[in-house]
Amino acid sequence: MREETFNDEDVAESDLVTRRGTFRAIAFRADGHEHMALVYGKTALRENVLVRVHSECMTGDLFGAMRCECGDQLDAALDRIVAEGSGILVYLRGHEGRGIGLVAKVRTHVLQDEQGLDTLDSATSLGLPVDVRDYSPAARVLKHLRVTSVRLMSNNPDKIEALEADGIEVVARVPHLMRPNPHNIGYLTAKRDRLGHDLPQVDQPAASYEYPTATR
Ligand SMILES: [Zn+2]
Repeated sequence: MREETFNDEDVAESDLVTRRGTFRAIAFRADGHEHMALVYGKTALRENVLVRVHSECMTGDLFGAMRCECGDQLDAALDRIVAEGSGILVYLRGHEGRGIGLVAKVRTHVLQDEQGLDTLDSATSLGLPVDVRDYSPAARVLKHLRVTSVRLMSNNPDKIEALEADGIEVVARVPHLMRPNPHNIGYLTAKRDRLGHDLPQVDQPAASYEYPTATR
């Protein structure tokens, strides 16, 4: 187990008081990026820990962009963790545009807006891959935090496979469904139909899904 953790110079942690409450903030370096895990309550040596592995999305997370659902998912994950009383959010950098980077992501937005391409075709038409995200830093930090098994807030079966391949036991997938809006319905439809994400709310936005309530 110890070899999975980090060298002392690559990790630091402190309390982080937020408007939701006090988290333990673990900053760590892995694979050329600096990431962060936010831990709420007691999670070490626990089973079934509620976890969100969130891919960085500056436009959605910081600026509230409505062309994706990232910002809503980030808020909802933190709300759920606090509501449950414990859990971990792992925020992974280097994941902009499913790993193509921020400038390339914005280039795909141009193609989406001007040519009507979807989130996949706009990447491939630029010669870029559709998804090159590496989840291994999340697995490493979950081991560092001595989490025994997790319930993962995600709609993406590939993410579960990736974490399990890296030695994290995922005992359940917790659907993390956000209410669609007119600006992201095409994006969500493409993720459902072409990337295999489990997004039942896309066809039935009026259905009584238990949408988490956003806090901003
Ligand atoms: Zn996004």
